[in-house]
Amino acid sequence: MAKKLYLIKEGEISLKGGNRSLFEKRLRHNIKDKLGEFNPIFSKQKGRIYLHLDENADEKKVFKALSTTFGITGFAKAYECKKDLDEIIRTAEKVLNENPFSATGTFKIDARREDKSFPMSSYDISVMLAKTVHEMFPDLSVDLKNPDNTLCIEVRQSVYIYTNDNKGPGGLPVQTAGRAMLLLSGGIDSPVAAIRAAKRGVKVDCIYFHAYPYTSDEALEKVKTLASIIAPYLGGTRLYVVPFTDGQLRIKKYSYPDETTLMFRASMMQTAERIAKSKKAIAIVTGEALSQVASQTLEAMNFTDSMTDLLVIRPLVGMDKEEIIKTAKEIGTYETSILPYEDCCVIFSPKHPITHPDKETSKKHYRALEMDEEIAKAIEKAEVFYFNAMGDLEG
Ligand code: ATP
Ligand code: MG
Repeated sequence: MAKKLYLIKEGEISLKGGNRSLFEKRLRHNIKDKLGEFNPIFSKQKGRIYLHLDENADEKKVFKALSTTFGITGFAKAYECKKDLDEIIRTAEKVLNENPFSATGTFKIDARREDKSFPMSSYDISVMLAKTVHEMFPDLSVDLKNPDNTLCIEVRQSVYIYTNDNKGPGGLPVQTAGRAMLLLSGGIDSPVAAIRAAKRGVKVDCIYFHAYPYTSDEALEKVKTLASIIAPYLGGTRLYVVPFTDGQLRIKKYSYPDETTLMFRASMMQTAERIAKSKKAIAIVTGEALSQVASQTLEAMNFTDSMTDLLVIRPLVGMDKEEIIKTAKEIGTYETSILPYEDCCVIFSPKHPITHPDKETSKKHYRALEMDEEIAKAIEKAEVFYFNAMGDLEG
């Protein structure tokens, strides 16, 4: 009898040399983190991972898990059967009953014979299964170049048959490239920056600076919602909510009006650095894009970089807003990001912010603000929320 399983295609991992098994182990671990309740068991054959789950595993959950796990380029629900012609045909019928083709249009059989001892060639297999498809969907014709429907069959140790090949997010498994702290605001950009960093294997936790009551409870809720949406891509994430009202008020009171944003950004960097170091994170990620706003000029970024000796990565640096929005829509954060609760109240934003600060002068001004105590207090009062790898808030 045919057995259900999930076939997973890995992308860049397969190009890894000596470290390949470490990347694969991490990928399996990350999948297990999401689907542990269904008792996952993995097996491997050349370029494919086979994931076996409990019979009654929730397919929606499996889809969500696999489509958000970096390191996977594609996946499909498949049926495995013996290398027996009758069984192959019966299994193909079962697959097509569960995932029917469109009634009209075209189809293709995509047959792969990895086991060269199997007596039929991939052409023979295709002809045999095309007959099955014709019987079930008499109005479909064959199109090998641009088919509307595809039935895939792979003959390996067993035979694997599937129709829907889903796209995975690509990239490399999270936690293969060290840890970073993301500055997460309620805007469009920073959740996208998180995804971009995670896609290259970085394990990302988030920090949000909350200036209650100048920033509302709704603004905080919005940030929590964003964290829960990106958490599956990040393989789970901590959200540190740092109360920064006193810090903001101090900056507002003592800094030059055109420098308030810059000074706030400097103190965010320093706060993030301290939290990062206590958690063994070695980089800070922000959603800045070059020249998007006054504080994102080369000079301003150079100044904020000088506030920390951690690596600061800005994955969106060369992206237009349109491109960022496109990704935000794909990952599902856009609708939340555009909700109208501002993450930073207008009273803290200068009318004419400085765009080309002199690094040494601004550093001197920042030192004069003596922010250390406010930063230490804020970190002490920070609240932590943990969103697990399926995006659920724990604890
Ligand atoms: P976003 O759309 O992500 O809010 P933005 O274009 O509005 O970005 P800024 O508000 O200047 O730009 O913020 C630039 C970056 O600084 C953000 O992408 C985020 O990484 C960080 N940031 C800004 N405000 C906060 C905050 N309140 N808490 C944490 N990080 C913040
Ligand atoms: Mg913002």
